[in-house]
Amino acid sequence: MEKMVYNFSAGPAMLPVEVMKQAQAEFRDFHGLGVSVMELSHRGADYMAVAAEAEQDLRDLMQIPDNYKVLFLQGGGRGQFAAVPLNLMGINAKADYIVTGQWSKSAVAEAEKVGDVRVLEGLKTAEDGRQGLATSWALDSTAAYVHYCPNETIEGIEYNFIPDTGDVPLVADMSSTILSRPIDVTRFGIIYAGAQKNIGPSGLAVVIVREDLLSQACPQVPGILDYAAMAKADSMLNTPPTYAWYLAGLVFKWLKAQGGLEAMGERNKAKAELLYNYVDASDFYRNEVHPSARSWMNIPFQLKDDSLNDAFLKGAKAEGLLALKGHRIVGGMRASLYNAMPIEGVQALVAYMDKFAKQHG
Ligand code: PMP
Repeated sequence: MEKMVYNFSAGPAMLPVEVMKQAQAEFRDFHGLGVSVMELSHRGADYMAVAAEAEQDLRDLMQIPDNYKVLFLQGGGRGQFAAVPLNLMGINAKADYIVTGQWSKSAVAEAEKVGDVRVLEGLKTAEDGRQGLATSWALDSTAAYVHYCPNETIEGIEYNFIPDTGDVPLVADMSSTILSRPIDVTRFGIIYAGAQKNIGPSGLAVVIVREDLLSQACPQVPGILDYAAMAKADSMLNTPPTYAWYLAGLVFKWLKAQGGLEAMGERNKAKAELLYNYVDASDFYRNEVHPSARSWMNIPFQLKDDSLNDAFLKGAKAEGLLALKGHRIVGGMRASLYNAMPIEGVQALVAYMDKFAKQHG
């Protein structure tokens, strides 16, 4: 029997086994055409059907209203750090950026190349000294938009609420939380995400943009980042990442078969609770994020003694538990529990953590 391997990578991340098997089965002969889907012209009817179906399935899953365009672009999450200001700062070149960690900070750096950016502190230290979230900000009601990152992949900090920005459009980098649970798309002006966590392989970014925001781009916006031009061309102004888009479509079908985002939300909550509860009860491991701001997707944890990190990782790998090394900024470990991670993977991780703590505690 195949040895079970669980991949806890923060991204590119684990994809559902069923999706990988389907992709493998139709790899060289897509729907009896005798060629791979990646060999099809993006302008041909066969590929156009794949693309349209993926978009429709995403619309169904997220209940995306008709006044939003869905774009399948290149350039990953960082491409959108640049695209957002270039598309929204053409008339009014100022924006508020709420910063809660490394990714929202990186988004600021790109926006500053285009206009005036005001940085607002997203973090707040709770009474017990742990990191939590600020819940309100002195926002500028005349800003072109407010940007934030609902889930900071590196720090494992996640908003359990949507910031209220009044009439100012809210822009969210959902790279590491999109599709992890239902969200109210109507609260956002723009949602974007690099694909390589909950959507599919890298090389693709999904952008969901409200139509009224398509007419305020800077004149210098490059065509491939121009939301209006891309919307007009059905994301095919240039050759899109066709294979990644196809795989994303398979993931969307898989999510529907799992019961959609309600079901994923319940599963993801249960998976995260299993790990947090174990860490909190242990005096060997710890997580420093305030419980109200803990991510369901990326869970950093530290060992009692950092000198045991290498031994922990080596033992984990031997048991088929991969990619648990924390980001260098935070140190320690990080377990990413995206949609494709089954609860059995988290159970195996907790069992290993317990064994390791008993051996080294
Ligand atoms: N935003 C977030 C929240 C991320 O986690 C990442 C990548 N891990 C990025 C942006 C950057 O994505 P990319 O590497 O696709 O540019």
